[in-house]
Amino acid sequence: MNEEHFKKIISHAKEFGFIFPSSEIYDGLGATYDYGQNGVELKNNIKKYWWRSMVQMNENIVGIDSAIFMHPNTWKASGHIDAFNDPLIDNKDSKKRYRADILIEDHIQKIENKINKELIKGKKRFGEDFNEAEFKATNPNIIRRNKEIKKIEEEMELAFKNDDLNAIYQLIINLGITCPLSGSKNWTDVRQFNLMFKTELGSVSGESSSIFLRPETAQGIFVNYLNVQKTGRKKIPFGIAQIGKAFRNEIIARQFIFRMREFEQMEMQFFITPGTQEKWYEFWKKERMKWHKALGIPQELLRFHDHIKLAHYADAASDIEFKFPFGFKELEGIHSRTDFDLKQHEDLSKKKLRYFDPEKNESYIPYVIETSIGLDRMFLALLAYSLKEEELEDGSSRTVLSLPYSLAPNKASILPLVKKDGLAEKAKTIFNSLKTQYNCIYDEKDSIGKRYRRNDALGTPFCITIDYDTLKDLAVTVRERDTMSQERIKIDDLNNFIDSKVNMNLLF
Ligand code: ATP
Repeated sequence: MNEEHFKKIISHAKEFGFIFPSSEIYDGLGATYDYGQNGVELKNNIKKYWWRSMVQMNENIVGIDSAIFMHPNTWKASGHIDAFNDPLIDNKDSKKRYRADILIEDHIQKIENKINKELIKGKKRFGEDFNEAEFKATNPNIIRRNKEIKKIEEEMELAFKNDDLNAIYQLIINLGITCPLSGSKNWTDVRQFNLMFKTELGSVSGESSSIFLRPETAQGIFVNYLNVQKTGRKKIPFGIAQIGKAFRNEIIARQFIFRMREFEQMEMQFFITPGTQEKWYEFWKKERMKWHKALGIPQELLRFHDHIKLAHYADAASDIEFKFPFGFKELEGIHSRTDFDLKQHEDLSKKKLRYFDPEKNESYIPYVIETSIGLDRMFLALLAYSLKEEELEDGSSRTVLSLPYSLAPNKASILPLVKKDGLAEKAKTIFNSLKTQYNCIYDEKDSIGKRYRRNDALGTPFCITIDYDTLKDLAVTVRERDTMSQERIKIDDLNNFIDSKVNMNLLF
């Protein structure tokens, strides 16, 4: 865990108007956050990148925006009322609550870390001749540890399959898992806890009027799939995308915007012919990994993790994990959901949800591959990867947020060297000519050096300085954020120059 870096991200996010604790004047509200003036821009740009890559770039995918409130039967059909539970366990000494499966997965991660250390040692010892596959297959410590991991995974899988909470408890005890806070093994039993928020519709209370805040956006897509298919004249395979809020009463909510009780999801359900799910599952795994890599996120910060504990609706599931400061954790899920949801809705609503396949001349309930990414987690991943403290050649240092250019809250900052002698007016004219294309900052306060630093911390790709020469040669100095290199560019060429560097099309 890189605690220092994580703290730095949280304080930077607040200091520069990205994220504030919600209702801060009342000391905040657990696991709820507000996005500030720069946060909202970054968030909107992530949404735009996702939406465009899904909806605009795929002629067989369309978007919708469904309501947060849904008929309560939706959640009965989807299984959320009965099965959207987390197994929780309390440590009696620290009084802290944990998710039992996460405690076990963290334990497995520790064993994996030991394997990785062994690999590093091997690499050092054998240098050029190192053969990783052979080393893994023959090193006795690695073999033993892999066996250990397999055994834990099998026991956990069986316990979850049988809904055997006592077996989960026993596993935690047998593995000697301690509370990270108190260090003790004094655990309560494992219990199930439903994560949905319940509220009342209208003024009458009682079970019949109870409704839920949606815990995922996916169900809004399922209940609309035939509306979209028919009105959009869609043929299978086709997809429906949606971005929206979801709510979960999370047990552990201690990791900033990683795990919130109110968050946003970007989900796409891809409707396919039954029997083709393996092909499409692999296809979307690849596509989604490509999407992350196009942002310049290095390979070593991303990995796939196939699920052991499958959700109640899935026949295969894999996460794209990102290396957050607190370790590799789920950023996005890719799930093969079979026909589970549509079948359930058909049973409960008594409405036919079948697709008539003109090629096969038959009706069937489509299978579904889902890609589901947390917008806030993506935001955190970008901050974690981009926030850097750099040593400069002159011995000083700078804080820079090296966000992908097209996602940066502002693309350019317009800086008159001084306010007087007509420089501010010239700078304003430039600002006005660029602001129709992208978000720009106009800033005339403080020395130019300080203004550069402020923009580095905000992630602004270009600083445009208007100096005395500008009035004569109609050119400006453009400083690039990452290299800090400076270039003289004609005012007339500015728009094209910036556009050629920040346009989101460059990501596709
Ligand atoms: P986790 O195991 O971390 O609780 P999950 O498997 O329950 O996540 P999904 O139901 O697959 O998550 O939801 C899809 C995506 O929504 C996740 O990959 C994650 O990015 C995001 N997400 C889920 N829960 C939260 C949350 N409480 N706060 C922020 N994002 C979340």
